Amino acid sequence: MSLTVGKDRVVRFEYVLSLDDGQVVDSSEGQEPLTYLHGHGNIIPGLERQMEGMEVGEERDITVEPEEGYGPYIEGHDLVVPLEEFPPNIKPEVGLGLLVETPDGQQVPYFVTEVSDTFVRLDPNHPLAGQRLHFKVKVVEVREATDEELAHGHAH
Ligand code: ZN
Repeated sequence: MSLTVGKDRVVRFEYVLSLDDGQVVDSSEGQEPLTYLHGHGNIIPGLERQMEGMEVGEERDITVEPEEGYGPYIEGHDLVVPLEEFPPNIKPEVGLGLLVETPDGQQVPYFVTEVSDTFVRLDPNHPLAGQRLHFKVKVVEVREATDEELAHGHAH
């Protein structure tokens, strides 16, 4: 009997991610399936929870609300950085993620949302924050994790 998706197992799966309007924003098509260690927060919570118990070969349509996805969109936290103050070794592009140090010394991930001739706009919201996510997933492999994978908390 083959294993089902569950805690401390390494899962390989194919997926297509679309939004409410049907727009496909991410997909494993044409690439390797995604591999992760189940039960260790390696993928978004709503997807991990709803893949629990799936069998190899099984396909499932999974809807994830923002709260269990990339979070609600929080207004008013964007930063406008003059282009000359942007790190010269980083080319700003929309969608780029980078760590920004806050006044209290924390490193917080921000994403570039706008690039003009004079400034770069950064937003702490994930580009998919506030979106309901529609996954079509197909499990292609499930195996027990190795001791090393469990110690590291991710799949190798
Ligand atoms: Zn490792």
